[in-house]
Amino acid sequence: MVQSAKAPGLVNIYAMDDQELEALLKSLGSQRFRAKQIREWVYDRNTHDFDNMFNLPKKLRHQLQLAARVGDMHVQDEQLSRDGTRKRLWRLNDGQLIESVLMPYKDNRRTACISSQVGCAMGCSFCATGQMGYKRQLTATEIFEQAARFSAELRAEDQRLSNVVFMGMGEPFRNFDAVMSAARRIRSELGIGSRHITFSTVGLVPEIRKFADICAEEGLEIKLAISLHAATDEARGAMMPVNRKYPIEQLIDACRYYVERSGRRISFEWALIAGQNDGVEEARELADLLRGLKAHVNLIPLNPTKGFGGETTGAANAQRFVQVLNKAGLSATVRVRRGIDIDAGCGQLADKNAGTDDAKERTKQLLRDAKERTQQRTGRTPGEGAESPVAHTE
Ligand code: SAH
Ligand code: SF4
Repeated sequence: MVQSAKAPGLVNIYAMDDQELEALLKSLGSQRFRAKQIREWVYDRNTHDFDNMFNLPKKLRHQLQLAARVGDMHVQDEQLSRDGTRKRLWRLNDGQLIESVLMPYKDNRRTACISSQVGCAMGCSFCATGQMGYKRQLTATEIFEQAARFSAELRAEDQRLSNVVFMGMGEPFRNFDAVMSAARRIRSELGIGSRHITFSTVGLVPEIRKFADICAEEGLEIKLAISLHAATDEARGAMMPVNRKYPIEQLIDACRYYVERSGRRISFEWALIAGQNDGVEEARELADLLRGLKAHVNLIPLNPTKGFGGETTGAANAQRFVQVLNKAGLSATVRVRRGIDIDAGCGQLADKNAGTDDAKERTKQLLRDAKERTQQRTGRTPGEGAESPVAHTE
């Protein structure tokens, strides 16, 4: 594999669009159709070493080794949950760490949850990323590459990445242009329709309006989820500092604008915290707040984080909450928790190399099993065309 850390001057294939890749090939004295071949190796066969791109002339392979690299991020650690959720810790070129998560579902959906910033400045009290503070923006390529790498690994195993949610580390609308650019590339280059892409925001009012306008102009159908968690300014302000800047009334106005411009319904996220926002009264307040809005409520049982003392709501209270909302005509579901045993759930991503020795040993075993299954299915060992995800773990 070409190691970018040792060769910082090399261009990253994931950062190049078709024209740029063709221009690079031209500058190397090669023909344009080679760009398609390179893309197939990278995006469909998950091949990172130009030397293994067997249908390219030897000279070009050598030139590419000197001029380019595939990928700018390194897998620092990976954990596999009992439910198949895979959490990955990436080391970026400047040594910063981010996490992304891949969730397989029984109906063959494969959802990547990706990060938009290193850390987050929004300071929501219940969220591990918020607790670590803000480090820096991710570039559009770093955002795109998280999804592209999962996509390539799945394709090499005859599977397909079907959905991408911007619910990892960071506030997507605080990195607006990079996130929009990454989403456009996920659609055009990974073939994931915009209605299978979801942005989740803490509730930045001007950006919600701007997002609505851009989607309408470009015909993008990216889904929008708003992290609400409380239906009064007092309660929301206590958990989410952003509410002091953009109080609930302004937020709901912006949501109405989004629904009008897009014609689509909007999702509201509500982390259920025992005794805090999971009672019948809070459910009624929420139903009143959203009355008349084309909306769906996603209830997330609170995931534990070190810096927040609140507890998860029990299943009975969660169901009661759903019933109150449904009775008021509001659709609501309780989200199935994924990857909780490896801290891969909503709001649990942080820049730590998490995991007990026990969890790490189990992960290694699960990865070995997965590798064996792949080999049995495809009849090839990693290195013969396709590289398995395990091969990238450093
Ligand atoms: N910054 C964006 C997206 C990342 S957080 C946002 O806040 O929307 C993704 C989702 O996880 C948000 O809905 C967020 O409120 C929720 N979340 C954060 N911490 C959580 C926790 N401890 N338990 C459950 N959900 C949490
Ligand atoms: Fe940032 Fe979202 Fe976490 Fe709030 S919930 S701190 S906005 S990542």
